Amino acid sequence: MFENLTDRLEGVFRRLRGHGTLTEDNIQEAMREVRMALLEADVHFKVARDFVAGVTEKAIGREVAKSLSPGQQVIKIVHEELVALLGGNTEQLRLDGRQPVTIMMAGLQGSGKTTTSGKLAAMLKNKGRRPYLVPADIYRPAAIEQLQVLGDKLGVPVHPSTTDTRPVDICRQAMVAAAEKNYDTVIIDTAGRLHIDESLMSELKDIQEAVQLSEILFVADAMTGQDAVTVAEKFNHDLAITGVVLTKMEGDARGGAALSIKSVTGKPIKFVGMGEGLDALEVFHPDRTASRILG
Ligand code: GDP
Repeated sequence: MFENLTDRLEGVFRRLRGHGTLTEDNIQEAMREVRMALLEADVHFKVARDFVAGVTEKAIGREVAKSLSPGQQVIKIVHEELVALLGGNTEQLRLDGRQPVTIMMAGLQGSGKTTTSGKLAAMLKNKGRRPYLVPADIYRPAAIEQLQVLGDKLGVPVHPSTTDTRPVDICRQAMVAAAEKNYDTVIIDTAGRLHIDESLMSELKDIQEAVQLSEILFVADAMTGQDAVTVAEKFNHDLAITGVVLTKMEGDARGGAALSIKSVTGKPIKFVGMGEGLDALEVFHPDRTASRILG
């Protein structure tokens, strides 16, 4: 994860630490290199520009703490700003309120929605909740079966959706079933498309109007970098998503999506997928991720 970015930043900071004292020029030179490293990592150009401007301002203005060398001081500021860029605090799922609470997964086809629905159900079950999986992708018959197989594996009940029922009706019926059976967390796995299209969006909006959603999690493949951010903007514009899940993070050497998505959409990354296994879902921690990026 983030290997390329980490390697690049390591080089910049090694040179910075080599200076006994730092001039404004040294800092600006280092920040130019940081900006290049971020752009190469596929970070959104405005995000990279603002990030570097923020760090430069702080680095030049800050009193030098006696315990830290000037180079370390700058690295500390970069760390703080990276944490902020990644979202600041760890964001919890909203599971309070009237039960059952409902989480809708949305995103493009292949982003990892179905797998993440299963992973999330497993995580919540381990925490003592009673999840109910609802397949609402009626266009690919295999999608319903895929979730059914995951549910069986996990011992999590799956709503018996059929391809001849409209997704919004599936969701309504599933809410009734969940309440009757005392399930406390409904996870709706929706259809995706290869590209954003209006009929997909209106289907999701119909569900949003019919069912009280506690969370709308936008699922994106981290490896798609800036594309993931652009698609997230559209989903957020149309649906007001409540959070992001970045999948396939374990294979993402660059980190552009992770570093841009909060800043561009204003919505936090709540989870990251770290592999194909059903236990490979992690709560996203901005501080730990920043430390990891800085090596
Ligand atoms: P959907 O079309 O959005 O429902 O996507 P799927 O859940 O079917 O996932 C598409 C592919 O991505 C599958 O082969 C998954 O195993 C894989 N996948 C999902 N999440 C991750 C992840 O975090 N890491 C890796 N390596 N693969 C993942």
